[in-house]
Amino acid sequence: MAAADAIEAVVLRTLRYGEADLIAHVHARGEGKRGVIAKGARKPRSRLGARLEPFLVVQLQLIATRSDLATVRNVEIIDAHEHLRSSWQAQQVGAAALDLVAKLAADGEPNDAMHHLLRSFLGHLDAAAADAPTIEARGTALLAAFELKLLHAIGLTPQLGSCVRCGNAVGIVAYSAADGGVVCSTCRIADDAFLAAATHGAAVELLRDSLADIAARDLTDRADAPTLRALRTDIVAGTARAHAGVSVRRPL
Ligand SMILES: [Zn+2]
Repeated sequence: MAAADAIEAVVLRTLRYGEADLIAHVHARGEGKRGVIAKGARKPRSRLGARLEPFLVVQLQLIATRSDLATVRNVEIIDAHEHLRSSWQAQQVGAAALDLVAKLAADGEPNDAMHHLLRSFLGHLDAAAADAPTIEARGTALLAAFELKLLHAIGLTPQLGSCVRCGNAVGIVAYSAADGGVVCSTCRIADDAFLAAATHGAAVELLRDSLADIAARDLTDRADAPTLRALRTDIVAGTARAHAGVSVRRPL
């Protein structure tokens, strides 16, 4: 056994293990997705358990072991995301994001773009959760943007600028999950999903604009709920299913 350096990580999910242990799946800076085990974390007096919960950004001190699961020696909270964790709606939105990272991130494969994107998303979702009446609308827009950027971070960026089959930039009417891009009226086949102009426009904006810009926008400037639903179903979920074999959770 050797002591390892401290790592920064987002807790994706936790599982009870044995009588009093806790296994946490985290996404760590410089390391990607990995599992860690906190021995005795579910005992009443343990200081580890309360610091290993989904949505927390933590600094982990690990003891390397022979198994895939390093043992947690100490945990310090970097970002508690209190608003997020006390809002039911924000938790539903955030859980969909953590779930997608858990499914799309490869074990032990560093992806710092993904790590920073997730931390940025959780920070903006936490700020949005402080305003209860608007969290559902703001949260869903942030989630759709996060999902598009996450596809980008793993090399599955949807082609939105021109027809994926002929390169035409005009007459876009559909989205092909199989081909990973928009399709014009000439090239459309029966398998392609209808793509409304509003949905196409929202996808272009949410992929292009920073999460900070999206979080700061007026609610009236935002794509409406049916547009975001279509975007998440046809573009995000369709692409994730066709190219990574994973399903996307519906938050609300
Ligand atoms: Zn075409």
